[in-house]
Amino acid sequence: DSTHRAEGEYARQSLQAPASMEAFWMPFTANRQFKARPRLLASAQGMYYRDVEGRQILDGAAGLWCCNAGHARERIVGAIQQQAATLDFAPTFQMGSPLPFVLAERLAEIAPPGLQHVFFTNSGSEAVDSAMKIALAYHRARGEGQRTKFIGREKAYHGVGFGGMSIGGLPNNRKWFGPLLAGVDHLRHTLDLQRNAFTPGLPKHGVELAEDLERLIALHDASTIAAVFVEPISGSAGVVLPPEGYLQRLREICDRHGILLVFDEVITGFGRVGKAFAAQRFGVTPDLMTTAKGLTNGSVPMGAVFVADAVHETFMHGPPGAIEFFHGYTYSGHPLACAAALATLDTYAEEQLFERAIELAGHWERAIQSLKGAPNVIDLRNFGLIGAIELAPREGAPGARGYEVFERAFHEGDLLVRVTGDTIALSPPLIIEPAQIERIVNVLGETIRKVE
Ligand code: PMP
Repeated sequence: DSTHRAEGEYARQSLQAPASMEAFWMPFTANRQFKARPRLLASAQGMYYRDVEGRQILDGAAGLWCCNAGHARERIVGAIQQQAATLDFAPTFQMGSPLPFVLAERLAEIAPPGLQHVFFTNSGSEAVDSAMKIALAYHRARGEGQRTKFIGREKAYHGVGFGGMSIGGLPNNRKWFGPLLAGVDHLRHTLDLQRNAFTPGLPKHGVELAEDLERLIALHDASTIAAVFVEPISGSAGVVLPPEGYLQRLREICDRHGILLVFDEVITGFGRVGKAFAAQRFGVTPDLMTTAKGLTNGSVPMGAVFVADAVHETFMHGPPGAIEFFHGYTYSGHPLACAAALATLDTYAEEQLFERAIELAGHWERAIQSLKGAPNVIDLRNFGLIGAIELAPREGAPGARGYEVFERAFHEGDLLVRVTGDTIALSPPLIIEPAQIERIVNVLGETIRKVE
C-alpha cells in the first residue's frame, strides 16, 4: 500500500498540488496540455504511487524504468539519509572518497565477464556521451585516431546529449537541433510487424538485419569506425526486441573489423530481463556498457559506463602523473548516489529480484499476449518483465490513440504506464505480484475497448 506520510517542511509540499505551475518548463511533455489537466504524483511505496488527490495508482512503469525494487525501500532511504549526514560531497578531480571504489567493485562482481572497470556519470545520457568519448580516445591511444565514426540505429534512443542524440534514431528528438555530430550513420531497426507480430519473446525473423552493419562498414570503410551503439532492447522506440541471433551477429562483425560494440543497457540493466544485464541474458559481451536508472532504483540520479579490461588497460600507460582520460563530472560517483546504489544492489540480491523477473516472465507473457484480439491492437511484445502493446494509429493523428489509452488508464483505471507514439510500454517493478499483473492487463484491456 502507498502511504501518504511525509515528514518535514519540504516533503509536506510534495503532497499537494503546487500553487503555480508557470515557472517549471517540463521535459519531454506537452506543457500546456499537461498544466490544463495535471497528473501529479505525491508519494510512493512499493508497487504504488499516490497522486495529489489521494488516489492510489498502480505503477506499471517502475516510474520511468527505474524503480526495479519498488518505491521507498527502507534500506535505500536509510542509506541516503545516513550518507547525507556522513559525507555530503567530496571533490572528484585529483581527490576521492571511499564509496565509489566500493561500489565499482560491487558492480564488477555482477558485470558481464571482462567488464570490470566502471566510470560514473549522473544519467544515462551522460553515460552514452562518456562511452563515445572513451571509444574515441581508446582508438587514438592505439594509434588508430582515424576511427572517429559511430554507427547507431534507426528508432534508437541514447539520451539527449549531442552525442547520444546523433547516434539516436528517433526523428522527433533530432530534427529541431541542426546538423548534430558529423560521421554518424544508422543501421536499420528490427521492428517487423509483417513477419513478427504477436510473437511471444524474441522475434523469430530478422537476424539478417545485422548484415546491414556490413553494408555501412563497406560504405564508410572499417578503418574509420570507432564503435557501434545498440540498445539490446530499446524502450523509447516503443520496445523493440532483437531478433534471435541478431546481437551475436553484430558482435562477430564488430570483432572482424576492430570496431567496439557498445550496449546501451540504461533500461535493460539491473534485472528486468532476468539477469543483471541483457548482455548476460543474450550471451553477448560488449566492449562498453552504459547504465543508469535501476542502478540506484531511481532514488538518486546516477549512471555508469562499464568498460572492458582491455579498453581500460589501453588508457593506463603514458607518462607517470598524466591524467589518463580528460573527462568527468563534478558529481561522478557522488556519495549519496553511491550509498543509494549499494543499498539497491543489496536489496536486489537479498530479494533475488533478477531471478524473480525470470520466474514471473511466463505469467507476464501470457497476460500480455491475452490482449490479442482487443480492438486496434496490432502487436504485443514481451521479454523478461518488459511488455508492449502496439495500437494502430488513428488516421492522420499518429500517437493520439496511444496517448488516450495512457491518459484514461491513469485517470479512470488508476494505472501508470508509459506511452511512446501508439505503443503502450510496460516495465513494472520486479516485486510485482501475479494479481497486480492481472490488474494491469485488465485495466488496459478495458481502456483499449473504451478508446475507439
Ligand atoms: N539510453 C537509453 C537506452 C534510455 O532508455 C535512456 C532513458 N530512457 C537514456 C539513454 C537516457 O537516460 P537519461 O534520461 O538518464 O539521460
